[in-house]
Amino acid sequence: MFQDQSADSSVLASRILDRYRQAYRTSREADPSLRYGRRTLAVSTVAQQFYCEKAVALSIEQPLAPSRSMRNGAAGHEAVAALGVTMTQEEAVAAAVLTREQPLCVYEFRIGWQHEGVTLLGFVDEAWFRAGHVELVAERKFSSNPGIHAPYHVQAGLYCLGLGAMGFSTDNTSYRISVFSRECYDCGRLISGACPVHSGDSTVFSCETGACTSQIFSFNREMVSGNLNWALRFWKGEREAEPTSSAAKCRACRYGRICTSRGG
Ligand code: SF4
Repeated sequence: MFQDQSADSSVLASRILDRYRQAYRTSREADPSLRYGRRTLAVSTVAQQFYCEKAVALSIEQPLAPSRSMRNGAAGHEAVAALGVTMTQEEAVAAAVLTREQPLCVYEFRIGWQHEGVTLLGFVDEAWFRAGHVELVAERKFSSNPGIHAPYHVQAGLYCLGLGAMGFSTDNTSYRISVFSRECYDCGRLISGACPVHSGDSTVFSCETGACTSQIFSFNREMVSGNLNWALRFWKGEREAEPTSSAAKCRACRYGRICTSRGG
């Protein structure tokens, strides 16, 4: 019985790794046929289209240096990722498919898959696996606004979709979105794993440094796939960038000075 399970796991791991490598290989060999001469798309870029697609276009056509808050957010991600053990992709996939009592958390799990002929690549903040099933995808954001906005849902949902396309089971998969205030990025509790929102022990927490909140949602494959199809039409040149209709977003936008679609 144990040997059968082990053999099944290793077959599944090989299949997943084959699909992952094939996605990378195809992306390297493909014509750069996407908009702006791209061969692949980052999951995070697709998610940003759901904030404002025009801003995504401007960030490529007239890029600005990352702001301090963007750099702090990246630093926060790196600090939390350092909690994990460094693994190769082969080791991470082998661990993900093993039968175990408690799910295993892999930080910064690399994903790559093809959807409608386009290769999508990304890193999942946290992916929790048990016997090849994705129990939970966890996504962390650092923002001055504690709301859980559409791009966060899209990004986490795309990670679930990609893991499923790679060969993991995503039936009944959930995703958790945690939003930390910008001040949290170098918090000692977060870096040590002791923040109760980060550990999943609480859904809200505040301390002398900052505040955070988290919520869990069910992955809806059809909805995420439909969102991705809409986003890909821009990259395939089938339509132009759609600006947001939110004047509030435009007021906060870094590209407001040069955008001809600016509202409000
Ligand atoms: S100003 Fe408004 S429409 Fe223009 S890029 Fe920014 S958010 Fe989008």
